[in-house]
Order: sequence, then C-alpha cells, then structure tokens
Amino acid sequence: MGRVYNFSAGPAMLPEPVLERARGELLNWCGTGMSVMEMSHRGKSFMSIAEKAEADLRKLMRIGAGYRILFLQGGASSQFAMVPMNCLRGKSSADYFNTGAWSKKAIAEARRFCDVNIVATSEESGFTTVPDKETWQLDPEAAYVHYTPNETIGGVEFDEIPDTGCVPLVADMSSTILSRPIDVSRFGVIYAGAQKNIGPAGLTIVIIREDLIGETLAGTPAMFDYRLHAENGSMYNTPPTFSWYFAGLVFEWLLEQGGLESMAEINRRKAEKLYQAIDASSFYSNPVEVKYRSWMNVPFTLADAELDSRFLELAEQEGLHTLKGHRSVGGMRASIYNAMPEAGVDALIAFMQEFERVHG
Ligand SMILES: *Cc1c(COP(=O)(O)O)cnc(C)c1O
Repeated sequence: MGRVYNFSAGPAMLPEPVLERARGELLNWCGTGMSVMEMSHRGKSFMSIAEKAEADLRKLMRIGAGYRILFLQGGASSQFAMVPMNCLRGKSSADYFNTGAWSKKAIAEARRFCDVNIVATSEESGFTTVPDKETWQLDPEAAYVHYTPNETIGGVEFDEIPDTGCVPLVADMSSTILSRPIDVSRFGVIYAGAQKNIGPAGLTIVIIREDLIGETLAGTPAMFDYRLHAENGSMYNTPPTFSWYFAGLVFEWLLEQGGLESMAEINRRKAEKLYQAIDASSFYSNPVEVKYRSWMNVPFTLADAELDSRFLELAEQEGLHTLKGHRSVGGMRASIYNAMPEAGVDALIAFMQEFERVHG
C-alpha cells in the first residue's frame, strides 16, 4: 500500500518531504559516518543540529530574547505537573480554564500542588464552546492562568488570547502550536508535546519567559526543574536526540513553505471547507459553536451512529485512515494539522459526500 491520508490526532502525519530527507540522512548524517540516532548529544554534530532547530523555531514563532526554549521529554502530561512546580513561586493558587478533556487533566494534576480556581468552565455544555468573557473569574493574585487554546478531543478553540493583565499566561499548545502566527510575548509559558504538529513523539517543547524560571517548589525533582534544563541547554541528561533533529527538519520545511503566515492561510482554508461540507449536509454534524471551532481537530457525527463502522471501513479503503472519534465523544474526528495536505481534506470531503449519497 502507498502512503495514506492519516487523520490521527497524534502521533499524526509528518510532512512527506521531511520523511524523505530524514531517510536520505538516516545512515550517514552529513558525512559523519553515523546516524543522528547514534551520535553523542554533546558532540559537535549534534550541537549544530540542536542549535539550528532552536534558531529556526525562534524565527518561525518570532520568539524574543527574553524567552528560553527547552527541548524536554515526558510529554505535555509532564508539563501539567512541571508548570505548578515551577510557576507557583511562593503563591498558593492558580487560575485554570476548563474547556475540555485536556484542561481537566491539567487541573487534576495542578490540584496536587495548589488551590485551583476555575476561571470558567464549559462542562455543562458538553465542552462545545468557550465560556463568555463576561463570566470569567480571574483572580489577580493567582500565580498564573492556565488554558488549553485548542482542545484536541472536543475540537474547541479559543478565538483570542485571554487578557490576564500582569498574571503570567500558561498555554498547553500541543495541538495548535505552529498552525498560525501567535504573539509569544503575551505568554509566560507555552508548552507542547511534539507528536501533533511538531515532529515525532518523545519531544516536548517548552517556551518560557526567563523571569519565570528558578523558583521551584521545595522537593521538586531535578528533572522537573526548568532552571536545571535551561542552564544546561536542555542537555542536563540525554535529550530525545532524534526527535529534536526531526523537529528541526520540520521547522526548516515550515520556513520553506513561507512560515506560519502561509500555514495559517492553508489551515484556515482546509478547516473552512471541511466545516462547510459538514454544515451543508443534513447527514453530518459538528456540535461546536461556530466561533470556537478548531482549525486542527474536526469532530463530526453521522445522522445514524449504526453507520459509523461502515463509514470507517469504506474510508480506509479510500486511503483515509484513523477517522474514528475519541471514545468520549463518539462519531468521527479528522485531525488536519500542518502536514495534512489540502488534497487529503478534499479527498475526505469527496468521500463523505459519496457516502451520504449512498447511505444517507
Ligand atoms: C495530546 C495532548 C496532550 C498529551 O500529550 P502527551 O505528550 O501525550 O503527554 C496534552 N494536551 C493536549 C492539548 C493534547 O492535545
């Protein structure tokens, strides 16, 4: 079988030219006689790879000099603990938005370390919206405000960056980072697991404002201390070298595509045509309030859930894979990150229309 359109939420598709390039370099990186996977992370070759990846990410996201970029392990899930361990800085409470499954996990973990003030929740609506700004209960004394700009499971996305005044804003950007330009200077901490829109699993990127580094909770293990990682250039211990290298190739590819402005244009178009197709049909539906629909994760249901397995089976025959929705939501979910070509979305829409014609 050839390569398929893989709509997985993560690990997700990677850009084919990047996979090709990695294959070309796999056995012998730049005449070193070894694979990146076999190199010392402290050697000259890997150091150059690591530095270029960081420089390219800075360029792509326009990350200012006041921010450090950490290349860590442990996934976004480890950040649910690392954020309170490092960012409480003597305070005893933090603000959290509750807009979906990932918010809830972050909140549960934070509760081990501090009082959690829920700024706003959309749980009563089944996480199909972002609560109205007028209802937000921000605490000016909070150590920080945490939110999930894009809820990967519900397919709900904030339409703007919350204004938290002087309180540092922390964002779990796992499923939206690099999908469009953002103003990094509005954030205290941005973190993301790599396996959605950055590169292979195993790498977690943390972008942190320098003044938030260095005041950890007593008893914080070394590996959970941002300062230690910052001081050691993310090489306190062995970093995920291959994932770091591969992420660097993705950053280069994104720059070649015209950077995040270009990606935003393509991503907007991909999402718009898929939602349009869903809205134009009486067979498919998406429950999310239009203003808050995600560009990256598009959940949808069929009018008759009995047809779900048939839909998935026929889709797979057409090379459209991993469309099954998250078990908590049901139905389907199409994740359409940067690496999903527009042609993949077109193929999905054509398939959906044909399926509706025959079975609808
Ligand atoms: C996937 C995901 C996570 C979990 O990431 P891991 O790297 O598996 O820990 C957390 N938050 C969001 C928004 C996600 O999409």
